[in-house]
Amino acid sequence: MERNYLLLVNKENPVSSDFVPDDLKKVYLPTILNKEIYISEQVLKSYEELYLNALEDNIKFYVFSGYRSFNYQEEIFTNEYITARPGHSEHQIGLALDVSIPDVGLTEPLGSLPEGIWLEKNAHKYGFIIRYPEDKQHITKYIYEPWHIRYVGKHHAKKLYEKNITLEEYLD
Ligand SMILES: [Zn+2]
Repeated sequence: MERNYLLLVNKENPVSSDFVPDDLKKVYLPTILNKEIYISEQVLKSYEELYLNALEDNIKFYVFSGYRSFNYQEEIFTNEYITARPGHSEHQIGLALDVSIPDVGLTEPLGSLPEGIWLEKNAHKYGFIIRYPEDKQHITKYIYEPWHIRYVGKHHAKKLYEKNITLEEYLD
């Protein structure tokens, strides 16, 4: 399957319930509580690069979540603003990762800690964007998620970063 790394999945653009990426690989880098997590092959390669470079700056990330199936998304769906409806989550396409550190987890304070700041400044170098920035909630329709990184490839990530725009604005 030829992957479209710019595939837009959001509240208006769902992905079909039976969509499962055929390039999922198990994450062999640290995950929270040694969870078994899968993401698309290219995303894992790029994340490895990000992870190793962060380590050199004494930043150690843990993967909290990666690929999530439609059914799993159905189970965890509680609230429109916090979790995506099944079929509307980027996690279903295998191109999104939630990364943080154990004591902080997936909470907003990550954004002002060295780890969150590092991610915001450097993720694009490895092909990732901070998908739900603090000042773009009116566009993404998501709360600020400093931990949710989305793979779009280096070329596009750099452009998005330099223009300070979201994927929605970029594809518009
Ligand atoms: Zn996420």
